[in-house]
Amino acid sequence: MSQFWSPLVRTLTPYVPGEQPKVSGLIKLNTNENPYPPSPAVMAAMHAVTADSLRLYPDPDSSQLKQTLAAYHKVKPEEIFVGNGSDEVLAFVFMALLKHDAPLLFPDITYSFYPVYCKLYGIDYDEVALTQQMEISTADYIDRDCGAIIFPNPNAPTGIPLPLSTIENLLIAKPNTLVVVDEAYVDFGGETAMPLTQRYPNLLVVRTFSKSRSLAGLRVGFAVGHKDLIDGMERVKNSFNSYPMDRVAVAGAIASYQDEAYFQKTLSDVITNREQTTQALQKLGFSVLPSSANFVFATHSAFSAEQLAAGLRERAIIVRHFKHPRINQYLRISIGTQEECSKLIEALTQLTT
Ligand code: PMP
Repeated sequence: MSQFWSPLVRTLTPYVPGEQPKVSGLIKLNTNENPYPPSPAVMAAMHAVTADSLRLYPDPDSSQLKQTLAAYHKVKPEEIFVGNGSDEVLAFVFMALLKHDAPLLFPDITYSFYPVYCKLYGIDYDEVALTQQMEISTADYIDRDCGAIIFPNPNAPTGIPLPLSTIENLLIAKPNTLVVVDEAYVDFGGETAMPLTQRYPNLLVVRTFSKSRSLAGLRVGFAVGHKDLIDGMERVKNSFNSYPMDRVAVAGAIASYQDEAYFQKTLSDVITNREQTTQALQKLGFSVLPSSANFVFATHSAFSAEQLAAGLRERAIIVRHFKHPRINQYLRISIGTQEECSKLIEALTQLTT
């Protein structure tokens, strides 16, 4: 700590991201990356970016990328905000839209970045407990006074999705409350709320290229909502004079949307591996929450999750274990390739039998 730190910085507890190991050869199932590489078309498009174009600043509006996203998702370009990964998009959401007199609500078990952002941007918040079944109950949100609501769908780290009809009922019940749905994992089996943005001006949907599009290293994310919401976020962004996307990232992101067959194949492979891994874990005596994401959340009544995570680590496999008392008996396991998942099951068989 330095005497020059501001009072706010003194109070911050920074987010601790999942480990990115410095050594190679580990089976990395801890940060929900896609085990498959991005489409070859993405690599080709990025290689095709010319030296002469890199000499120039990028388009501050990322218009071409917005047009590609708008055409695919059947919305208008002016209903889209793009940024360097959805964490940055979320930062603009928090700064531009979530600061109200009443608290922001989110689940007690959810993406642990939300409270960090709240503290950074001076936003009051309340956590709403998940049900016994580890589900979000929107009734618990409808009953409470709040400035805004945010949750992932499917939720993380549980992987449990909310049906679209439930989200629509929440939007109807709270027409004056902004509802932000973080759809980082929706492509793996959830129902997207994107079409509802056309009817509900109180809905903002946030997406990332990091999971289903295998581009965590490129840093691309976006939000979709009523033009007035997007205008508010653009106003904050433009006050920073920041360029949301560099030219290489724009080229790669657009190409990803042009190779639909590769995208669908990757999704279906991850989903197949998830279902096989779930069954294998259940055979070993784990309870596995019903996941619609690219990870599973599993607990074993006879073994400590922390010790299992340590045992896996000794066998060169890393998974995520959270210290939060309500979930410290769970492991969050990202879905890998079929070979990686088999090695995981082999290691867990040794550890539990
Ligand atoms: N939302 C959720 C629920 C996440 O799990 C993550 C990834 N940790 C993000 C947003 C951020 O993803 P990115 O910044 O890579 O787009």
